[in-house]
Amino acid sequence: MKVAFTGGKGGTGKSTIAVNVANVLSKFGKVVLIDADAGCPNDHIFFGAELRNGTPVELFVPIINDRCDLCERCVDACPENALIKLNGKIKVFPNMCNGCGTCKIVCPRNAIDNGKKVVGHVYFSKLRGLDLLTASIVEGEKESLHAINKAKSLARGDYDFYIYDTSAGTGSSVVSVLEDADIIVAVTEPTPFGAHDLKLILDITSQLNKRTFVVINRSDIGDNSKIERLCNERGVRVISRIKFDRELVKYYINQKLLDENVDAYSEIKKIANFIRGESS
Ligand code: SF4
Ligand code: SF4
Repeated sequence: MKVAFTGGKGGTGKSTIAVNVANVLSKFGKVVLIDADAGCPNDHIFFGAELRNGTPVELFVPIINDRCDLCERCVDACPENALIKLNGKIKVFPNMCNGCGTCKIVCPRNAIDNGKKVVGHVYFSKLRGLDLLTASIVEGEKESLHAINKAKSLARGDYDFYIYDTSAGTGSSVVSVLEDADIIVAVTEPTPFGAHDLKLILDITSQLNKRTFVVINRSDIGDNSKIERLCNERGVRVISRIKFDRELVKYYINQKLLDENVDAYSEIKKIANFIRGESS
């Protein structure tokens, strides 16, 4: 069973919930948690794990060889404007190149060799009870998709539960994770921004035809009616309402996993049990 925890907006508590649900599920089956927030991965911190010895994520970058006659077909075809003719040479801007390979395909003189650049890493951590794969992009890189796809491809194994923690927003890297999931859990909060971003997520999950459920975090700090109404209209079930809890904030600040001493833990167990039910 593949479950994606997402939330259009940042700061809804999505990662805290995803990590803790994964931790509870690990008592019932084999779990891999995939941190797909490649621009700012932080799931490992909850487990006190360090990111070491990552598998590099490499992309093709063109290297222009001596056969080039400066016809500029590659320059015209490049979708990222990563090539220009300058001082009698074709200059490549690797930071702008997305590795699509179009330049190599259109070159009539076989004047482009294969170069590569590292755009990110995927880190594997064996933790107590579960495996963690962390996708991460290198500084200056904007595109997370390649690192996330690599993490997904490395999540091979006989796992009972694949738990994805997406980044905020509704960009292509988030959609690629949602596409892969059996069910989606959208984490939101009762604020106008929360309702607005939840609507965007529900639009996407409905287009993807994915079963989607909602968790309202900090459910007692605002007016839930907009969110509840939206969920009713869309036929989406709210599976948990987690109240604001000062103890939970302390655990979050200290990057600790939740336990029975925190009221919210019962809701985390409820979400985990719901997922177990859906997987059987
Ligand atoms: S691989 Fe694609 S993006 Fe990169 S230089 Fe070639 S055409 Fe442009
Ligand atoms: S398409 Fe090939 S030959 Fe033409 S400018 Fe580009 S690298 Fe040179």
